[in-house]
Formats: sequence, C-alpha cells, structure tokens
Amino acid sequence: MSQILQIYKLGNPILRQPAQPIENIYDEYIQNLIDALIATVVPANGVGIAAPQVAESYRMFIVASRPTLRYPNAPEMEPTPMLNPRIIARSSEIVKDWEGCLSIPGIRGLVPRHQAIEVEYSDRNGKLHRQVLTDFVARIFQHEYDHLDGKVFLDRVESTKELISEEEYQKQIIQKL
Ligand code: ZN
Repeated sequence: MSQILQIYKLGNPILRQPAQPIENIYDEYIQNLIDALIATVVPANGVGIAAPQVAESYRMFIVASRPTLRYPNAPEMEPTPMLNPRIIARSSEIVKDWEGCLSIPGIRGLVPRHQAIEVEYSDRNGKLHRQVLTDFVARIFQHEYDHLDGKVFLDRVESTKELISEEEYQKQIIQKL
C-alpha cells in the first residue's frame, strides 16, 4: 500500500524551483514515488499531480483525466505516470478555460492553453511515448508541465479579474452547465 503524500501549497519555495530530469527511471525510489503520487492524486480528486507538489524535485507527473461536471466528455484514463516529459509542438489555437490546483486550494482561474500539443515522455518501464494530446488532457499536461518549471496557473492568468473563489466558481460556473 503506497502512502499518501503531503501536498505542498503555494508559498512553499519547492513549487518555484525547476525540477531535475530523472536519470534512472528504474530506481526503486523513483518507482515508489510514482506509486505514492498515484495514491495521493486519486483521493484528492485531482486530475493530475506533479512531483514538485509533494516536494520531490523530479521531472515527472501523473495525468489522471476523467469526466467531470465541466468536462463530461473528458476521457476516463488510468492514472498515467509521465517521466521526463517534453512538449514537441504546440497548436496555434489557444483555448481559455477554468483551472484549479491541489497546491492552490480555494481559487480557480481562467487559463489560456494550447488546444493541442505533441508530447513525448517515458512511462514507468522506460518506454518512450510520443502522442498528440488535445483539449482537456492537453490542458492537464500543460498545467503539470508548468510545475516542473516552477510555474503555477496563476502565472498564466491574463487578468486578476479572471480569478475566482472556489465557492463562487461552484455557484457561477458549475450551475450554469
Ligand atoms: Zn497544479
């Protein structure tokens, strides 16, 4: 049974540090960290988590898309570990939508992201994957990728007027859907 890790919140310097590449994917410490990240993101109702959010400065994250109220057509996927991820190409089309973050509780922001991206990453067995991600999954990837560079979604919001409390988000946005 993997332990649930503490999620560090905005203000902790670890969230602002660039993370280091993983040199040995097969290292037991890294493999255990993958399991612990999955064990942490699922009960937190997150759709993604990056290693720096649990104070582990490694270039890896979990993408765990599933249908939500906002994205009823989001693909249901097994929590997928992505190690040493890269963005190879970005669509010129930009889409704005609401994001939250497990490290920034209580706040939502309207964040512009590329509608589609071509990415490369290693899975936990060291196999290299190259794929095109679109829409919600592309958004999760870009959000988590930012964490590896010490960025959070607040850095990408175009106006502070596009930040709202979770409470108002539930009232204004979810109930209109
Ligand atoms: Zn986040």
